Amino acid sequence: MKLTKAQRSTLHAMFGGRCAYCGEPLGERWHADHVLPVERKLQHVRGKGLVPTGELYRPENDTIANLMPACPPCNIDKHMMSLEDWRGKLSRSLDVLARSQPTYRHARRFGLLQETPKLITFYFERVAQPEAA
Ligand SMILES: [Zn+2]
Repeated sequence: MKLTKAQRSTLHAMFGGRCAYCGEPLGERWHADHVLPVERKLQHVRGKGLVPTGELYRPENDTIANLMPACPPCNIDKHMMSLEDWRGKLSRSLDVLARSQPTYRHARRFGLLQETPKLITFYFERVAQPEAA
């Protein structure tokens, strides 16, 4: 859905100008993320690869109530995942790094890292229920 300037401004202010997921300031090129994915239909275009057709597999999810302000890295990483699928992917980040990045394994082996595995809590969840200090 194409947002009006007023809708986009309201969405931007939803979490004080911060990404709903990581809490970083949004910056100028922020995204309106569909919490429940809309799953864009893609078609292969010669010389361009896969290109969105403009059609959605789940048009029922294309509503203002289903949008969250997101920084581009969060929106791109979440892609078409549900929140719980993305939370699971993020929770496995240390394992993925250890498996795929020799530099990470060396840093771990030589004690340069302090890993803090924990349940991923999104910014919008933290501001709704602040953790006890
Ligand atoms: Zn973010």
